[in-house]
Amino acid sequence: MDKLKMYIAGEWKKSRTGKKMTITNPANGEAIAEVPEGDEQDIHEAVNAARTAFESKTWQQFKPHERGRIIYEMAGKIRERKEELAHLETLDVGKPLSQAYADVEAAARYFEYYAGMADKILGETIPIEYGILDYTVREPVGVTAHIIPWNYPIQITSRSVAAAIVTGNAVVVKPAEDTPLTALKLAEIFAETNLPKGIFNVVTGYGYEVGAALSSHPDINHITFTGSVGTGTTVMMAAAKNVVPVTLELGGKSPNIVFADCDQDAALEWVVKSLIQNAGQTCSAGSRLIIHESIKEEFVGKLVEKLEGLTVGPGLSDPDIGPIVSQKQFERMKSFIEQAKEDEVDILTGGKEILVEENEGGFYFLPTVVNKVDPQSLLAQEEIFGPVLAVFSFQTEDEAIQLANNTEYGLVTGIWTTDVKRAHRVASKVRSGQVFINNYGAGGGIQMPFGGYKKSGFGREKGLEALRNYTQLKNVALKYD
Ligand code: NAD
Repeated sequence: MDKLKMYIAGEWKKSRTGKKMTITNPANGEAIAEVPEGDEQDIHEAVNAARTAFESKTWQQFKPHERGRIIYEMAGKIRERKEELAHLETLDVGKPLSQAYADVEAAARYFEYYAGMADKILGETIPIEYGILDYTVREPVGVTAHIIPWNYPIQITSRSVAAAIVTGNAVVVKPAEDTPLTALKLAEIFAETNLPKGIFNVVTGYGYEVGAALSSHPDINHITFTGSVGTGTTVMMAAAKNVVPVTLELGGKSPNIVFADCDQDAALEWVVKSLIQNAGQTCSAGSRLIIHESIKEEFVGKLVEKLEGLTVGPGLSDPDIGPIVSQKQFERMKSFIEQAKEDEVDILTGGKEILVEENEGGFYFLPTVVNKVDPQSLLAQEEIFGPVLAVFSFQTEDEAIQLANNTEYGLVTGIWTTDVKRAHRVASKVRSGQVFINNYGAGGGIQMPFGGYKKSGFGREKGLEALRNYTQLKNVALKYD
């Protein structure tokens, strides 16, 4: 079992109180590591370290291409250690090993992508009148806080940290209490580069303690939060007290809308993939199927058959579906199913946990398809965060759009049709931050802005858009005549 420390000002530290948290493997419930249980004082130390590093200007005074080179070096080092990182992510989160490898590659791609932007953060000149030169400069915001969920730890940490550091900020990362291991590995990898001490800091601990201390700290300049709507609201209220801007990436209840004229094999493949990825514990999971009634019976029949052929097991054996991340999430998910049963839904397959041989302590749930779901019920409205699909049918395009928009979330919509006019018409009417037509996810899309409408949050991560989160605009007007 690894006994780890947290990373502040370029040093490995125990928590101030000496308290520790045990990290368990969701595949079998066994302890795999110990990490410090930080508190408010540890956050204070990390924010001070980041502030000192930022104000020293050392990092901003690196030539932009030199900053980019260090970020680029991170991508290479992550790839060199991909086996170690992917195994660690699987042990920590439970996800199938091949998905953990894909996450590690995505993390490397974020560093690679943002490294290239280091010397391309541009300002503008603005015509005012003769004798005045007016220009804008994009400056780093200062100390940025990054609060990370447990479902994609290395990917989500890398995507915001790479964008924040390349633009000259100093960061404090708070990984989820269940899955802090790869964030600490990123610190180990940064420590091998010439990144100045204090630019990257990681504090481990519980959300209600270190998360709350970080989001209410008066000396931070931006918060990037990814997690649930409830916690996001708390973070936003804490930030409001210090007038600190936030970027919130919250949950989803994303639909695949399947029209009768679509390529049904492709739609079926992606309805399954978007449901079972990371055992359904994905903010952008395709957790609702909205299907034309003329093809519903046949399509859903094939879907059930496909899901029943999938493997469920420990992530290291690279099954189709790994365990749920923790007992807490497992119990939460099961309570949704119990409630749905009381609502007299029709469970077409799954709906129950299974025991996986030699992994009795793990949290395994069968992929589940639920029919006859009331569109206002919890199962139709709430993010379940497990491999559970709610099925709805429609007759007209308007009905499909109404069903798609009928939740408080607005993260992703999948549209399946061969009618190009309909595809764009529906895309223009659905209220979500991402729309995928005849695909779902477009291979991960490091370059695409990602974020939510409605309660799925605001602000955009990924792509060039994310650079706005970590820079602020200064306007300078000079009178020369
Ligand atoms: P969560 O909101 O419980 O926790 C997220 C993070 O916030 C964790 O690091 C946690 O320790 C911390 N936290 C908890 N209480 C806090 C507090 N009072 N103050 C500050 N920080 C606190 O969410 P989770 O269960 O870890 O993640 C699952 C949720 O995240 C789902 O709803 C999912 O949809 C969402 N999510 C969204 C995206 C996205 O990009 N939109 C990506 C992944 C996950």
